[in-house]
Amino acid sequence: MSKAKKPTFKKLKIKKGDTVIVLSGRDKNKKGKVLEVFLDSSEVIVERVNIVKRHLRPTRSFQGGIIEKPLPVKISKLMLVCPRCNTPARVKRQINEDKLVRVCKRCNEIVDKVK
Ligand SMILES: [Zn+2]
Repeated sequence: MSKAKKPTFKKLKIKKGDTVIVLSGRDKNKKGKVLEVFLDSSEVIVERVNIVKRHLRPTRSFQGGIIEKPLPVKISKLMLVCPRCNTPARVKRQINEDKLVRVCKRCNEIVDKVK
């Protein structure tokens, strides 16, 4: 038997453009839009969440000051906010017209935008 590496198709429950709420940590209960998703580390960058401030010295091309930069947040610390019922909700997967969509467990509406 060959030990072929299983292809890792990670399916995350959170996608770019989703609105999420932070469940724990410094930014608990903060809501924001997902700006970027890192599949490998299961982390996402959320708007206005996990911001670090960097003080920069002035250079010739930059006058210096404080730069705010968002750091990635573990997906396990986040929960999707359903755009239909506007509450943090778990999602399940469902096939809808040959497409895998996410469905809110609270209101049973499809979370993904359907074209
Ligand atoms: Zn819902």
